[in-house]
Parts: sequence; C-alpha cells; structure tokens
Amino acid sequence: MEKERVVIIGSGPAGLTAALYTARAQLDPVVITGMQIGGQIALTAEVENYPGFFNPERTPTGPELVEVMQQQAEYFGARLEYDEVIEVDFTGGSPFYIKTHGKEYIAEAVIVTAGASPWKLGVPGEEEFIGRGVSYCGTCDGFFFRGKDVVVVGGGDSALEESIFLTKFATRVRVIHRRDELRAGVTLQERASRNDKISFIWDTVVDEIAGNGVVEAVKTTNLKTGAQAELDTDGVFIFIGHFPNSKFLEGQLALDEQNYVITDEMMRTSVPGIFAAGEIQDPIWRQIATSVGQGCAAAMSAERWLSERE
Ligand code: NAP
Repeated sequence: MEKERVVIIGSGPAGLTAALYTARAQLDPVVITGMQIGGQIALTAEVENYPGFFNPERTPTGPELVEVMQQQAEYFGARLEYDEVIEVDFTGGSPFYIKTHGKEYIAEAVIVTAGASPWKLGVPGEEEFIGRGVSYCGTCDGFFFRGKDVVVVGGGDSALEESIFLTKFATRVRVIHRRDELRAGVTLQERASRNDKISFIWDTVVDEIAGNGVVEAVKTTNLKTGAQAELDTDGVFIFIGHFPNSKFLEGQLALDEQNYVITDEMMRTSVPGIFAAGEIQDPIWRQIATSVGQGCAAAMSAERWLSERE
C-alpha cells in the first residue's frame, strides 16, 4: 500500500473539481470514481445552467460536461481509479485507511464527494419492475419509451426537467404530484405547462405499481377526495428527491439526522484531515455550480491543512 497525499472519494462535479485543484497543487490526487463517473450529471440530459458551458444551437449534455471535467483533471495529473469504496477507517486520524473492491489505500487527507442517490417510493411493485418499466433516470431509459405512455412521480425540478425530456419519446407524460402546487422553479413550470404532451394529476399518490412482467398500470389515491384510480401506463419515472451516499461513513464522520456529512465553512468534517463537498454534505443547493464551488473549497482547505502539517 503506497501512501497517497490525497484520496478523493467520488467523481461528480465536486470530486472532479477537487481533483483538478489538488492536482494543480502538486498533491498527486487519486480519485476513486464510484459506479458512475460524473455521478448524477452523467445521467442528466441537458445542462442549461452551468456558467461557461453554453451552446445556443444545442443544449450540451451532462456526459459532455463530465468528459471535459475529467479531461481537465487528468491533464493536470489526477489519477482516476474505476472502483468503489467499501470500507474506511478514519478513527485513528491521518493517515486514513480506505478499501475498495480491488485495492487498499492509505491517505494523508481525504475529500469525500460521494454524492447522493434517488429515493424510492417504497410501494408494492416498485422493486419488482425496476428496469421493466420503473426508472429513476429519464436520460438513461427514456429511449425505451418511444411511442409509449409514461407517468412521472414528483413535483420538483427533477420531475419537470425529466418530464420535458421524456416528451421526446413518450406520447403522453402525466405528472403525479402529492400536492396541488409544484416545488419546481418557475422556468421549468412554464416550460412544462407549454408542452402539450405533459399533464398533471394533483393531490395524488401512487399506492402500487402493477403489471405482468412489465409495468401496465399504477394504482393511485387522491389525498383530498380519497378517490382511488388505476391508470394504464407503460412506464413509471420516480423523481422524489435524494439521500446522501454516506452509509460507508457511519461511525466514521459526524452525520446529521438525514445522514448528510456535517461540514463547516472550510468544508472540514468532524475528523481533521477529512473534507467533504457536493451533495453528500449539501441538502440545500444541489446544483452543479454549487458542487463545483464546494469541491474547489474542499481541495484548497485540504491543501492548506497538509501544508500546515509539514
Ligand atoms: P426535490 O426538490 O426534493 O423534490 C422532490 C419532489 O418529490 C417534491 O415535489 C416532493 O413533494 C415529492 N416527493 C417527495 N417524497 C415523496 C413521496 N414519498 N411521494 C410522492 N412525492 C414525493 O427533489 P428534486 O426535484 O430531485 O430536486 C433536488 C434539488 O436539485 C433541488 O434543489 C432542485 O432545485 C435541484 N435541481 C435543479 C435542477 C435545475 O436547476 N435544472 C434540476 C434538477 C434538480 P413536495 O413538493 O410535496 O414536498
């Protein structure tokens, strides 16, 4: 086991930015990418709100942004390891122990940028039909619903952004929301309401996803009237928020009541030498731009912490 100066856990915008900054600071960082390089932006169809990444002719995609970020980090010397962290031991202080499926690492400083994952509804039929009509990613699975009918569950930005994307393929997109008011921002609300293929089913929850081998219907309840319905559909796209990927950090770092890593304004965690950035510690902003800023701050803090120790 070689001793690394900095190991970055996760390769979303926060992780790749931390990689760029620590590489340019000559810290020779290793990035353990996790299952998906780029994290959630790798699954994002269109990126319209990341400054400096704009093309009026064609909205650039998440994977395109990931590719540029990765190239930039690697150009300056970051090493990407395509693996997943399964265990850490931060309890003895620096140097820290990190184990992946394929390797073990010792690191003087660690930047945790492991991101967040989509919540599941937890209704009957959901697990059974994942990949057979139930999806958490329009970008990944929208193509399979060409000429078909889908429902989207949720009322936030993700639900509307993905609904708009799904209209490229589906004949009809019905958004099922548990309230009669959307959480999504005004711009997305306007775009969705202008789209003829999108309609809304208000005050309604999905109780069950039904089918025979593949999704055929959702069973719903109207929370105001109590009326129950069965809506025929080919697909159920679920966008009801995210939870931090912090399971492997339990007992290692202080987490809040929703399991987000607690950080201060320097992106320091409860353990000196461990920093965190991006959605694993941010339940509020959750933008590419904010994750990039936090990744930059975490890298600069880590660099400062390392140089003060020398
Ligand atoms: P979100 O804002 O937390 O919205 C989740 C939605 O799901 C809410 O409408 C919520 O209903 C609903 N919901 C939660 N639990 C539910 C359940 N058990 N059953 C039914 N519905 C449920 O999550 P998000 O849309 O993924 O967005 C997360 C963050 O990313 C936000 O800060 C958002 O602004 C940001 N984001 C930004 C963009 C963009 O700027 N283009 C795109 C995507 C995401 P209630 O409204 O009733 O709580």
